[in-house]
Amino acid sequence: MQILDARKGILTPEAKEVAKAEGLSADFVRRKAAAGRIVLMRRGNAVGIGEGLRTKTNANVGMSPDRASPREELAKARAAEDAGADTVMDLSIAGDADGLLRRIARASRIPVGSVPIYSAMLDGKKKRKGIADLDEEDFLRALERHAKLSDFVTVHAAITTRGAELAKKRELKVVSRGGCFLAAWMAANRKENPYLENFDAVLEILKERDVVLSLGDALRPGCIADAGDSAQMLELIVQGKLVKRALKAGVQVICEGPGHMPLSKIEANVRMQKRLCAGVPYYVLGPLVTDVAVGYDHISAAIGGTVAAAAGADFLCVVTPSEHVALPDLADVREGVIAARIAAHSADIIKRMDSKRDLEMSRARWKLDWKRQFELALENGKAKEYRKRRKSRSEACSMCGEYCAYKLSEAALGK
Ligand code: SF4
Repeated sequence: MQILDARKGILTPEAKEVAKAEGLSADFVRRKAAAGRIVLMRRGNAVGIGEGLRTKTNANVGMSPDRASPREELAKARAAEDAGADTVMDLSIAGDADGLLRRIARASRIPVGSVPIYSAMLDGKKKRKGIADLDEEDFLRALERHAKLSDFVTVHAAITTRGAELAKKRELKVVSRGGCFLAAWMAANRKENPYLENFDAVLEILKERDVVLSLGDALRPGCIADAGDSAQMLELIVQGKLVKRALKAGVQVICEGPGHMPLSKIEANVRMQKRLCAGVPYYVLGPLVTDVAVGYDHISAAIGGTVAAAAGADFLCVVTPSEHVALPDLADVREGVIAARIAAHSADIIKRMDSKRDLEMSRARWKLDWKRQFELALENGKAKEYRKRRKSRSEACSMCGEYCAYKLSEAALGK
């Protein structure tokens, strides 16, 4: 039990491993884990997310009703891991979702996350039941199954009937799938959120296997016009209260955040989340800073993710170029992971003064040392391809050839 061991002063193997990988003292990691400001997980290597650590990225895969191929999703999970994602989540809403999650968990060397309400929905579908026909036990049973397979699970416990009511005034109402399911269930049953009503049971289930709770943001804004509205703020306040209950119960917890948000609101949102949620790790889903970058939403998310992470967010959700348009393919997942890693590293240059690699790259550029440049690149496949296909007759690149600025300035100003 990471959080309880940390509070007892025990240095777990995960705390030691994360400290070594991040260049920090093991006691720093332990103290932050004890306070809930760092969560520690292991699948293969140990991974830490939170204050003082490198910004992490999560990639999503999962089957949809239009394309439910476990083989393809497993390949995407591998591609995400190979591209450098720190964690992977299975968000399947079709097919044998539990079977795929089991296969991903078995194959993965990075922590695996999932969203149990999707399995609850699929369980209901098998019995010809709609989401509104499920009872509270159905939601908890799906959570129990996922807790046996996943390292972290999203539970949308903070959407309330009042929050769903406030969302009616929005341009895009509710855009979280889990949030939609719960809003529908609450409206049909005239009851409060079953995860909120049974939050102690949720915590018991997660505590038993030391699974990290990712408190979902069911009311995250789905367009910049809805950003920072009362529905989002109410959910954030409820998240804050639930975070405190989770920490008290000894459950590691992270909080999910927006969504779509204009640049000017991101920093304030991160600060407010950190303040209301006891400084636990903040997992941002974007934020996408414009609604019109369709086909290029990985860039929009990288811009918002950089600003969020520089302001203190700890964990970036990968957004792919096919966001809002189609189920991502393998290439989309890779492209999305790389964009998120660029955002994370750009923020870490500020947050952790982590620019040693950038300086080495500059020196390799000055020397036109292409091998070293490719070694230092966050991803080098595309750059190698460019260099191979668009060669220069000179030792520089085909942009300036013999008029390469490095060569000219070396000749004029010296080495
Ligand atoms: S040729 Fe131009 S673009 Fe290429 S490395 Fe030299 S300065 Fe840079």
